[in-house]
Amino acid sequence: MIPTYGIDFDGVIHRYGKGWFDGTIYDEPMPGAFDGLHLLMQHGAVFIHTSRDPLQVGLWLGERGGFSWTATVGNDKFWTTKGLLLITSRKYPAKAYLDDRAVKFTSWELALAELLPPEPRPAAADAATASGPGAGLVTVPVEDLRTIMQLARCPADGFFTAEDLAVIERLHAHLRSATPGKGGVR
Ligand SMILES: [Mg+2]
Repeated sequence: MIPTYGIDFDGVIHRYGKGWFDGTIYDEPMPGAFDGLHLLMQHGAVFIHTSRDPLQVGLWLGERGGFSWTATVGNDKFWTTKGLLLITSRKYPAKAYLDDRAVKFTSWELALAELLPPEPRPAAADAATASGPGAGLVTVPVEDLRTIMQLARCPADGFFTAEDLAVIERLHAHLRSATPGKGGVR
């Protein structure tokens, strides 16, 4: 079975330098976008996933990039046609989705850390920036520390599980919250 790729339009194919602006497709193609699409279409079935009117996007892609396209799939649950771009607002099953706004999902914990604003600093983290006893200290769960110590002992493994990454992200969040003005360190 050939692979299917779902490609976002704005910000990935259309440069979208001014955001939505007046709703037209006003900008240039992203560098490499047309060549990239043509190449992907040789390897698999490609659909453009967009909230725009498919006709608007299809006409632009046809005129500017010479693509053959359709906005109709009939009743099929899958898009598996090679050499023809499908323009759709439906999210078809795909091997991968290419999107400039994507957050790669590995766990809810990591996803929320990425999506939500940083949590307000807990009292323990306040101690990290205060002076006097307790300065420079943050409170972290013992199990997290244990995991970190194990990872530190076996650095040669070079392999982190999703749980390991979640622990690292938690500790990172603690450190971030304990270091005002240095948020966003990743
Ligand atoms: Mg986009």
